[in-house]
Amino acid sequence: MKTKLSSEYKNSIAQNLREVRERMAEANGMGQDVTLLLATKTVPAEAINYATQELGVTHIGENRVQELLSKYDELEKENVNIHFIGSLQTNKVKYIIDKVCMIHSVDSVKLAAEIDRQAKKHGKIMDILVEINIGEEENKGGIAPSELEAFLEELTRFDNIRVRGLMTIAPFWCEKADYQKYFTKTYQFFIDILPKKIHNIYKPVLSMGMSDSFDTAIECGSTLVRLGTVVFGHRQYK
Ligand SMILES: *Cc1c(COP(=O)(O)O)cnc(C)c1O
Repeated sequence: MKTKLSSEYKNSIAQNLREVRERMAEANGMGQDVTLLLATKTVPAEAINYATQELGVTHIGENRVQELLSKYDELEKENVNIHFIGSLQTNKVKYIIDKVCMIHSVDSVKLAAEIDRQAKKHGKIMDILVEINIGEEENKGGIAPSELEAFLEELTRFDNIRVRGLMTIAPFWCEKADYQKYFTKTYQFFIDILPKKIHNIYKPVLSMGMSDSFDTAIECGSTLVRLGTVVFGHRQYK
C-alpha cells in the first residue's frame, strides 16, 4: 500500500475515530448493534485504507458513482464492505452493481427495477434500503412518509433485491429536539410499517445519523451511522 498521508493527518483520523466510538457507546442506551460506516466522499483512497486496514473500520460509503469508480482499484477490499449512500441515477446502476454490498438510497420503482435487472444479470441479490424523506423537504431524495407503505408493497415483486431496512437524511442544521422528532418518527416506520410489508428481514438496518447528529440518532434507535466530517475533517471540494 503506497502511502502519502502525513502522520499528522493519520493521528487526527485515529483520534477522531476513538472519540466517535466512545460517543457511540455512550449514546447507545438501548444496546442495539450499531454499525459505523465512514462516508468517504472527497477522502483519498490512502486515508480510507488507513482507516480500514489499521483502525478496524469495516464499512465505507461513497455517494458519487464517478468517484467510487475512480478510487475503486486503489481501495483495499479485504474485510471491507463498500456501500452506496448517495442519490443514484438509474443509468449508473450498472457501474456499481458488482462493487457495492448495499444501496442506501432507493426511492423510486424505476430505480428499484433497474437494480433488480442488473443484479439478476450478475446472478446476485442486492441489499437495499428505502430512503425516506422524513422532513418532507422539497428537492430532497426519498419517499414521502405517507407513500412508504405502498412503495414497500411495490418492491415485493422484485426477486433480485432484498429490502434490508430504511435510510434517512434529516434536514440539515437542526436543533437536537428537531433531530429527535425526525429520528423517532423514522424509527416508528422502521418498527411498524417495514415489518408489516417485508417479512423476515435479515438483521434490519436503520441507516440514520451523520456527523452532527449521530448521538441523537443512536439514542432514537439507529443501527448504522454514516460519518464523514467528524472523522476526516472538513471536506475540500475541488
Ligand atoms: C456525506 C454524507 C454523509 C456524512 O456527512 P458528514 O456530515 O460529513 O458526517 C452521510 N450520508 C450521506 C448520504 C452523505 O452524502
